[in-house]
Amino acid sequence: MAGIDDSDAPEIDELTPPERTLMGPGPSDVNPRVLRAMSTPLVGHLDPSFVEIMDEVQELLRYTFRTENRWTIPVSGTGSAAMEAAIGNVVEPGDTMLVPTNGYFGGRMASMARRAGGAVVEVSAPWGEPLEPVDVEAALAEHDPDVFGFVHAETSTGVLQPDVPALTEAAHDHDALVIADTVTSLGGVELRVDEWGIDVAYSGPQKCLSCPPGASPLTLSAEAMEKVLSREEEPRSWYLDLSLLEGYWGEERAYHHTAPVTNVYALREALRLVAEEGIENRWARHERLAGALKAGMEGMGLSMNASEEYWLPSLNAVRVPEGVDDGEVCAALLERYDLEVASGLGDLDGEIFRIGCMGHSASPENVLLVVTALGDVLEDVGADVDANAGVEAARNALR
Ligand SMILES: *Cc1c(COP(=O)(O)O)cnc(C)c1O
Repeated sequence: MAGIDDSDAPEIDELTPPERTLMGPGPSDVNPRVLRAMSTPLVGHLDPSFVEIMDEVQELLRYTFRTENRWTIPVSGTGSAAMEAAIGNVVEPGDTMLVPTNGYFGGRMASMARRAGGAVVEVSAPWGEPLEPVDVEAALAEHDPDVFGFVHAETSTGVLQPDVPALTEAAHDHDALVIADTVTSLGGVELRVDEWGIDVAYSGPQKCLSCPPGASPLTLSAEAMEKVLSREEEPRSWYLDLSLLEGYWGEERAYHHTAPVTNVYALREALRLVAEEGIENRWARHERLAGALKAGMEGMGLSMNASEEYWLPSLNAVRVPEGVDDGEVCAALLERYDLEVASGLGDLDGEIFRIGCMGHSASPENVLLVVTALGDVLEDVGADVDANAGVEAARNALR
């Protein structure tokens, strides 16, 4: 241990992160009840009491996804882990997966499908627009894919994919299984896995569920699970192999990896909050509060990037006014108001602000804070906006 003695021990201060209001693309603000659940003592991940907790989390997840799928679990890891569990198990080497080009997360789908040994084909739409059912239909007819993936709520563009049943019906007519990215829709905007014919849906806890990242919702239909369990080749990831995870989450309750106990507690409490509020009330709350946010933006003279028919309440993409440096505005909001919102990325880099309105963050006080703070900072940098008119419009919408 040459060169290391006691005096080298790092002196690091106690953790005192700034108190931010999280109105970006995630994570969102966490309800204090969820934080309290996380500070309760651990039990073993095979403890009979934990087995009961696992059952409760599964039941609550089914309620939130609007599904009766037996195969409904939290995957250890962030949303991308649930995403990779979905794609890496359903896509087999030699399979073809159809993915969208209209945002950042379609690109991630493609990357994961290729790593799973699949071939990737695309259905195109510009960033900031949804997929058109006719284009999906044409791509299905042309490429005959085994799997079709789409993003229900595109966090990079603030676009909600409308008319999901039109897409799933088309895919099923071509015998393709449908994987939906519901990371920014679950618990925030209307989502009905069974009724809409979605075969596999994955999500993340830190967006509309307002839970810290770490255990991420995933659900698979019996048909999708049948494909997974009859694979010829093992999935490339041992950690995310659903046939092995079945041993833990299924009847057996056998050790596979140590469940992130604290994150499962957190998710349980976050989902209990969903059940208490009622899933449909929760969707309505997001629409009402994000509606007020949108009214505030438009009231001050800004415009939304997505048109009304596919506006995504949980992620509001607002056009950056002419001549304004978006990065400077985001930094000022953080500095002066402890408020987090995000810039655009990819094709919309520098063109939009991304303002989340998710879960616990979707509250009247947060909406008024965002409208007030953004109006103030934009006026300061000389943008052509009327901050007071924005606040007035948001207040009226909240009445
Ligand atoms: C955030 C997000 C993901 C990835 O989730 P992580 O928790 O960051 O791994 C995937 N898809 C969409 C649409 C997202 O918004």
